[in-house]
Amino acid sequence: MKNYKQNADFLYLGKALVAWFHIHGRDLPFRKTSDPYKVWICEIIFQQTRIQQGLNHYYKFTERFPDVRTLAEAEADEVMLYWKGLGYYSRALNLQKAARQIMADFGGVFPSQYQDILSLSGVGPYTAAAVSSICFGMHIPAVDGNFYRVLSRVFADGTDISHSSSFTYFSELALRMMPPGEAGTFNEAVMDLGSEICRPRNPLCDQCPLQRDCRAFQLGRIADFPVRKKKTVVKELKLKYYFVRFGNEILIRRRSENHIWKKLYEFPDELPTNYRTVVMEANTVYHKLSHRNLSIDFVDVFPENRKEFEELASTGGYQIVSLQGSLLHSFPKPLENYIALQAGRALS
Ligand code: SF4
Repeated sequence: MKNYKQNADFLYLGKALVAWFHIHGRDLPFRKTSDPYKVWICEIIFQQTRIQQGLNHYYKFTERFPDVRTLAEAEADEVMLYWKGLGYYSRALNLQKAARQIMADFGGVFPSQYQDILSLSGVGPYTAAAVSSICFGMHIPAVDGNFYRVLSRVFADGTDISHSSSFTYFSELALRMMPPGEAGTFNEAVMDLGSEICRPRNPLCDQCPLQRDCRAFQLGRIADFPVRKKKTVVKELKLKYYFVRFGNEILIRRRSENHIWKKLYEFPDELPTNYRTVVMEANTVYHKLSHRNLSIDFVDVFPENRKEFEELASTGGYQIVSLQGSLLHSFPKPLENYIALQAGRALS
């Protein structure tokens, strides 16, 4: 088994990855451009969305907002609309905030320095490293879950990835592997190897360019890496919404205060007690987010007449919209599903 002591040994692995990438790398949209704006949008979209699911969104988003200025000057509602279906809406809000920052602080030109990119709203070390290495050739590893998994397996390294110091540790390891002048390609190679070959479950070791040198493979201990000692805490959260409906119309409003779904549209979450409405039984829907298990009660409410419906709207500050028209607004996924279900019933 190889003993990795010399920098040349690490570099040899990095070069093997880059060579593999030139033949097997995925044909992704941001690889056809060196426009940092588009690479940035791509990185943000694909952080939490699978490539196939996010590609259409990427094309539509960059067609409507082709540069920093169009994104900065757009209405927030429209940006949210183009983000619809991708979830994690705070990403869209941050994108626009960052675009406005670029207009105000960098004269509308996407910054080229790592620290400047890192100062943008919603941009963390991974995204800043990816954009600065891919677009500006900076020698910085874009360390994310793929890096942790691939590197910990190749070196059978038991460093606990749930510990904050592991970021610096794996960054230093990656730096030793990164061939000079090929930082961007190296980062993309690890991204692709991690998502296509060295997958969390059932890695395709027979197709891996590092198999011959991979210690976890040689030891038959792939499932032991990466090591994560602290489990992610998932909280339970109960929500309740009133689906207030009169004929084909419903009540909605945009959430402004601090909440997991801030700035998205929602249904009323409380009703005055003195209304002579017909309230149906609640339908409970379960929905999983990365750190939360949601249980949402949707209570169908039918006001007795139009006057009562309008009073409910004005006292709660709600808009009256048609069922189908409501889908032009950005709702959290479970609420959008509920409307679609009701709209389907209304049509049938
Ligand atoms: Fe991952 Fe298998 Fe390659 Fe090792 S040989 S890096 S475990 S895919």
